[in-house]
Amino acid sequence: MLKTAIVGLPNAGKSTLFNRLVGRKAAVVSNIPGVTRDRREGVGRISDLEFRIIDTGGWNNQTNFSLQVIEQIEFSLLSADVIFFLVDAKAQNEQNKEFAKWLKRKTNKPVILVANKCESHRSGNVDYLQFFDFIGPVYISAEHNLGMIDLYDTLAGVIESFIDSSYVIPQSSPTIQVADYLDPEKNKQIPVSRTGTTSDQANEFTKLKIAIIGRPNVGKSTFLNSLLAENRLITSSEPGTTRDSVDITYDHGGKLITLIDTAGIRRKANVTDDLESRFVEKSMESIKCSHVIVLMLDSFVGIEQQDLSIGEAAIKGGKGIIIVLNKWDLINKNDRSKLIKFVKQQEVTRLFLEVPTITISALKAMRCSDVIDKCLEVNEFLSRKISTAKLNNWLIDALNRHTHPLVKGRAIKMKYIAQIGTKPPAFSLICNMPKNVDESYIRYLVNDLRKNFFAEGVPVRLLLKKNKNPYAK
Ligand code: GDP
Repeated sequence: MLKTAIVGLPNAGKSTLFNRLVGRKAAVVSNIPGVTRDRREGVGRISDLEFRIIDTGGWNNQTNFSLQVIEQIEFSLLSADVIFFLVDAKAQNEQNKEFAKWLKRKTNKPVILVANKCESHRSGNVDYLQFFDFIGPVYISAEHNLGMIDLYDTLAGVIESFIDSSYVIPQSSPTIQVADYLDPEKNKQIPVSRTGTTSDQANEFTKLKIAIIGRPNVGKSTFLNSLLAENRLITSSEPGTTRDSVDITYDHGGKLITLIDTAGIRRKANVTDDLESRFVEKSMESIKCSHVIVLMLDSFVGIEQQDLSIGEAAIKGGKGIIIVLNKWDLINKNDRSKLIKFVKQQEVTRLFLEVPTITISALKAMRCSDVIDKCLEVNEFLSRKISTAKLNNWLIDALNRHTHPLVKGRAIKMKYIAQIGTKPPAFSLICNMPKNVDESYIRYLVNDLRKNFFAEGVPVRLLLKKNKNPYAK
């Protein structure tokens, strides 16, 4: 099982996060050989993601890091695969910079910057740590159980990147491949067993979760049957990701794909399920649990308000989206281009985003696999990382092509952009007057970012932030 460790200054909220993830019942206290103080370990869980978690707390009342404490943290850095660097985001504490520097020196494992205590809008500023290039930040409130979905997404993204790289240790090799900095002698004494991350789990993590969403009778079941007729069904009885649902996993040319919420599709005889409110509610649940949304439309009916609301929810939730126009076989050749044009226009004017749009006939098994191929492509773009240099070159160019109008005689200055997250790709843009930037200008930047580095159907987030003037009183 993947191992994580929570590190950070005293009072960042490490134990609260530990308890939140592990749940008090599951927490065990273990005495680790070679470490004089106790530390807590347990199995943490966010939704379907399970991982071992080490709380390096236990010295919360200390104001300084003693040697012993440092030893403990170092130990947890060695044994964990992913580190949560927890920061109290309510108070900007310069000591965090020191800690961050030290952390960078000590480990080259993925470190997720977690900004805790973000229960109110005004709290939550960890900009001063952005140059350390940690993953994130993820804004949470461990105490109020906020931001756990973001933590899930970030952690899942990191796990996926392990699998993409050669980081996964084959099952036949029981010992951890230690990083260069690790003293081999010392490593012998430490019972570090990277249990898990077996190939089975690797598959578990790489599974792309797709929600097929569409009004009753658009052809979801027919689509599913066509897909499964051509492909190997892995399991059809997994407990559903959403309430009262069953998910289906199948092998799509060697890639495992989970189709979410297919119970709703199968139990279509149940009339109450077809009620509009239930449809929307179920769709929202499925959106939350998936990576990419397939919004299926009946070509005869086209796109409707409700479909647009679902599209909007998917984009807001940071999910990839593609639109499928089913029953294409029924559409007269002369009407085809008009129909596509109409849907495309709705996407741009209502969703502010062009969405990959695929025409299929589920009944005739036409282009059904293309839908999944497209989902895989969109999903890849969701985790794409762009270098800061490339981004800033793009920014100069984008600002030159279109200048923001003056605001009360003052020029808007945009100085620096950096990627702060993936899944969805998120960017922080430093600006002198973030509140005065036009909505339409932000949209221009977001769309241009997408065109340059991503693809249709990929939501891109841009956060405008004010640069703090250190000399201001
Ligand atoms: P669901 O409620 O979304 O699961 O819809 P179904 O898969 O049950 O399909 C509803 C109806 O549309 C059925 O009568 C299907 O045979 C029909 N249908 C589904 N896909 C197509 C298609 O591509 N072309 C045509 N002509 N009919 C289709």
